[in-house]
Amino acid sequence: LPEASTPRPSRRHADLGPDFFDVVAPARFPKTILRHRNQVWAERVGLGRLTDEEWIAHFGRFEPLPGSFEEPLALRYHGHQFRSYNPELGDGRGFLFAQLHDLKDGRLLDFGTKGSGTTPWSRTADGRLTLKGGVREVLATSLLEALGVNTSKSFSLIETGENLIRGDEPSPTRSSVLVRLSHGHIRIGTFQRFLALEQPENVAKLLDHTITTHMPELWGDSVEDRAAAFLEEVTVRVARMGAQWAAAGFVHGVLNTDNINVTGESFDYGPWRFLPAFDPNFTAAYFDQTGLYSFGRQPEALFWNLCRLADCLLSLAPQARLEKALEGFGPALQEGFAERLFARLGLAPAPQPETDRLVSAIWRFLGESKAPFERFFFDWRGGLASAERAAASPSASHYASEAFAPVRAAFADVSAGERARLDHPYFAGEPCTMLIDEVEALWAPIAERDDWSAYEDKLAAIARMADAYGTAPVA
Ligand code: AMP
Ligand code: MG
Ligand code: MG
Repeated sequence: LPEASTPRPSRRHADLGPDFFDVVAPARFPKTILRHRNQVWAERVGLGRLTDEEWIAHFGRFEPLPGSFEEPLALRYHGHQFRSYNPELGDGRGFLFAQLHDLKDGRLLDFGTKGSGTTPWSRTADGRLTLKGGVREVLATSLLEALGVNTSKSFSLIETGENLIRGDEPSPTRSSVLVRLSHGHIRIGTFQRFLALEQPENVAKLLDHTITTHMPELWGDSVEDRAAAFLEEVTVRVARMGAQWAAAGFVHGVLNTDNINVTGESFDYGPWRFLPAFDPNFTAAYFDQTGLYSFGRQPEALFWNLCRLADCLLSLAPQARLEKALEGFGPALQEGFAERLFARLGLAPAPQPETDRLVSAIWRFLGESKAPFERFFFDWRGGLASAERAAASPSASHYASEAFAPVRAAFADVSAGERARLDHPYFAGEPCTMLIDEVEALWAPIAERDDWSAYEDKLAAIARMADAYGTAPVA
């Protein structure tokens, strides 16, 4: 094999020691039917040549990858769920199976599972993932990646042949096991656990591990400097994630502190939804009765979570320095949001006043008109260069209304960038969306007839969109 396709495994997480995880055994499943194999990312980690049988052995039966952990590690963490502290969390239906380097950028990736069996953290639950939940996670990660969101990747989905009892499903329902890739699984809740256990030495140990593994450029000689630089970095990364979600019209649904990766990578997709039209009160999870994690409150929820991370670092750095680090949130959110709106519209960067004017005009228009959200970005790709296309859109009446005039005026001051790619066939077709009815409609035939064609068509449509937007990952 050529050097570049040889896997580079690591056991880095085990260096943290037994305070940080529990060694667990995977469930044995009655069946293992391959449903999703992410070949692009398989090649990036040097696993592109696995046969499907080998793939199933590793990602359905969890036979160790050479050079990786001999046994999986269920990671320990706590967290605030809907603002209540829960010390009984942890990997209850997943584990860290392996760590491999991305052969393209050298960064370390975790192979984390979902639905791989019970652990000491399962409480009374079954440690399983429904097939529908697995399919929904593949769809969310694929569309978010196409929309330019920094997200975990769905690496593998295998149907496992069990019947699961769930309240909100046709019951019993089918089961699956998912493998996700992300840069670490160090959550805000991983830090919180050591604050709650009053183990400041482990907070410091986790801080240094996170910096050396995932953010080596932050290293500084004093622990105080490292803690402050780390909080500053996480603040900026998490704010950018919030900005990316906003520009994508995405509602994560469960912004508990255990669902926030300190690398600022979006992950753990449960009751997620995309906006049909702009609505700050739009809520994804049926159990979020107060709208705590509604679309418009996501930035506030992320900031609250970052304050909980700051709490954990108070033993290492003075409060004033940590407060200063948190001040980066607002500017990073605003900057990241403008950057994403311009990228989604394929516009060339513009001076600050023109940028701000366009961004606020767009947001106000989307809020006032309730024009279909994704359609707007599709119709106005390249700004006024698409005026004719937009005039022929089903949303044309929205664009002819008075509410749109400020957007049109602001568009006049910006121009299409090199990457607008209006000649791409995607822009001659229909926008790719994933509204809740569509997700339900494409799930129904799978559930009833084992017909995967709508799901496969959807993934193909997402891939075309990613190609048009230039967000497709390159192997
Ligand atoms: P989540 O809402 O998916 O972020 O999960 C919150 C907590 O519940 C985590 O500790 C999970 O590991 C745990 N959990 C969720 N579903 C299950 C399940 N079916 N079996 C065991 N633990 C679960
Ligand atoms: Mg979670
Ligand atoms: Mg979950």
